[in-house]
Amino acid sequence: MRKTILWACAFLAVFAAVESRVNAKDARDVLADMVHAMGAANLKTIQYSATGTYFWLGQGYRSSDPWPKFTLRNYTRTLDYENGAYEEKFAWTESPADFANQQRGGGLTPLKGEGMGQDNFLSGDYAWNLGPNGNAVPQPAALAAERRVRLAITPYGWIQAAMKANPMMKSQTVSGRKMTVLSFTLEGKYKVNGYIDSQNLLDKVETWIPQPILGDMLVEITYSDYKDFSGVKLPTRIVQKEGGFPVLDLTVTTASPNPAVAIKVPDAAKVAPAPLSVATQPLGDGVWILRAGTQSLAVEFKDYVAIIDGAGNEARSLGVIAETRKLVPNKPIRYVINTHHHLDHSGGLRTFVAEGATIVTAAENKPYFEKIFRLPHNLDPDELARNPRPARFATVNEMYVLSDGNQSIELYRLHDDKYPDHWNSHAPDMLIAYLPRQKILAEADFYNPAAPVPANVPVATINLIGNKEDLAQNLQRLKLDVQRIVPMHYNNGAVPYEQLQTEIQIEREQLAQFEKDANSRIAGR
Ligand SMILES: [Zn+2]
Repeated sequence: MRKTILWACAFLAVFAAVESRVNAKDARDVLADMVHAMGAANLKTIQYSATGTYFWLGQGYRSSDPWPKFTLRNYTRTLDYENGAYEEKFAWTESPADFANQQRGGGLTPLKGEGMGQDNFLSGDYAWNLGPNGNAVPQPAALAAERRVRLAITPYGWIQAAMKANPMMKSQTVSGRKMTVLSFTLEGKYKVNGYIDSQNLLDKVETWIPQPILGDMLVEITYSDYKDFSGVKLPTRIVQKEGGFPVLDLTVTTASPNPAVAIKVPDAAKVAPAPLSVATQPLGDGVWILRAGTQSLAVEFKDYVAIIDGAGNEARSLGVIAETRKLVPNKPIRYVINTHHHLDHSGGLRTFVAEGATIVTAAENKPYFEKIFRLPHNLDPDELARNPRPARFATVNEMYVLSDGNQSIELYRLHDDKYPDHWNSHAPDMLIAYLPRQKILAEADFYNPAAPVPANVPVATINLIGNKEDLAQNLQRLKLDVQRIVPMHYNNGAVPYEQLQTEIQIEREQLAQFEKDANSRIAGR
């Protein structure tokens, strides 16, 4: 009996070894068939342009909403597989229909005119963007790693990466279609799955990249409508989802295989980005502005400190916490006030939870945060992932007050139902913070002080983020005596209340001028 079992074990071991060799060979066969079907054998570079839609990640109106959408004015991507480099250039604005329909959400809506643009680059270990002045802005090594993943999930980048790896293979039926799925790990870290259809074309890829609050975030790209461009088959429909919703929906209009490409790393991009620094500005009576790209406030109470806005990511929060400890050495950070759910204002919250702070947020955000705080953070484990603890919440409906009888923070929800002409298009959970003793208002995203546009300069983009008028009307409704405003998206301290009124007037004039100026109406093209 014992002998029989040993024989069976030996047989199974040999069988398993043969099976895995067959599988490894099969995976290479599949890849060889793909190279043939997709014309990738001699492909070194490719450039394509597209029309379509861009969606701003993490800026949905409600926490459950898809990301707000913008019409691409142009999109061009140049991929250099030989040198592990790419450039991606695109610009977008809100479509006139979305503007007229008062699309809601963040990401700089409402937006009218030429809109916004982004130029992103990768070359090996370097990532950089082009700033508004045309200068290269170096990006951190973590973003270079993310862009290498993004290069490896383009169709030919995926084949190249899969050929270098030793992929696992399985068959899977997806929506009634039989697919071959090849899976491998990129750079020893990122799991990548590719779905290959019966025509040996790459149908879908999925991978996971680290996101400060969403954790290991699924990136999923479907490739379809393959067309021949000089012997190379390129998908002409590319739909990319991140965090569960589309971020790009492209229809490729032109493509050229093997153009001459020279993506040179600018000297400025070889310099490591400056590490985060937190600058402190006292506002008096136990209140400080903490400037770290965007602004937070530290407010000292009798027994504790409250932080207004847990923006950014863990690094920023660690900087804010360290600076707060210097300012107020003997009191715990008991509260962090979340202005709203958008990723740029909630990305640092987990660090405060790890610190033991209670999150003060709109009531409807509690189940949302509880849900996303449970998402895995294996790719880039943060303090809370290493030492998990449940988050504590204090929830806000219409208003909420933190007070020790001397120091106070009053939180109010911004709303718009009384003002049909001016909608809170940004986020229904938006809270503003008023410090009655200092007559200071802290607000996110409704008023970002702007450099004044000189008179008689044509205005190419009207960006009504903020809905400054809505903010001003809410302040009137609440009868708040605001003397200074601390905008979270500003890195220069507080501004006098009068500046808000001045900018509302300027914006009204600009909007009227913009409407009159037919030459500036690029949005309608
Ligand atoms: Zn926002």
